[in-house]
Amino acid sequence: MANQALETQLIFQTAIGNQKPHTMRGISDSACPFCDRNLLPPIIKEDGDILLIPNKYPILRGSSPLVLIETKDCDSELSLYPEDRLLRVFRMALDTWEEMMADPQYASVLFLKNHGPFSGGSLRHPHMQIIGLADVDYRLNVREENFLGPVIYRDDAVELNISARPLVGFTEFNGILRDKKGLRDFCLLIQQAVRFVLRYLQGGRFNSYNLFFYRLAGVSYCKIVPRGVTTPLFIGYSIPQVGDNLPALVKDFQTRFFSDQSQIKIRGDL
Ligand SMILES: [Zn+2]
Repeated sequence: MANQALETQLIFQTAIGNQKPHTMRGISDSACPFCDRNLLPPIIKEDGDILLIPNKYPILRGSSPLVLIETKDCDSELSLYPEDRLLRVFRMALDTWEEMMADPQYASVLFLKNHGPFSGGSLRHPHMQIIGLADVDYRLNVREENFLGPVIYRDDAVELNISARPLVGFTEFNGILRDKKGLRDFCLLIQQAVRFVLRYLQGGRFNSYNLFFYRLAGVSYCKIVPRGVTTPLFIGYSIPQVGDNLPALVKDFQTRFFSDQSQIKIRGDL
């Protein structure tokens, strides 16, 4: 294909999409395909019950989709993991993302997670996706400013903030990993942001979120996005919106998760 780097649209292969099982909607659900190990395709990586497999339903043309099953427990959730599981899950996912980004056959590599009925995901079982794209480079659609804003936590290796210029809106949390020595804290900050979204944001009205990972100029970013119905102003006009309450949100987050301001320390057991 000519002009590969400028391709910005993905082709959804409808016939494959129609075969996909669903367990997120509650009604007439299929059995969970990730619970029965005998039904899984050949396992690529394994760490206890954390498994990396090819996605059986490659719905996007020109893509190499992988699935990382985070646990054998269908009803668990990333916000509930003890630190050991959290770090093992992220280590396998980030290593795999890194390996695929180093592979020249991909224009870019997506790494994302869906949770909850408004997340766009189809399976309840806790999992992440890493998708190599042959023709599409997501980096054309994002700018560094989309990952900056009022700071909740920062040291020389990691940061957690809320976007002042979100991609869509209204509240987008950003984890930033500037130095590999901050990897553990990066994972813990992402988990804390997920906990804040599911338990406290707007009184706990969100049951869905996405994680999206990006690599720009050698820095890794994770966007933690609470999901509800998307604003029509973005759907129709591509205009993002941001709340006017960011300082209050920062304060609320810090009070709940970093209560001792004199000694801000990331704890895995919150
Ligand atoms: Zn399951």
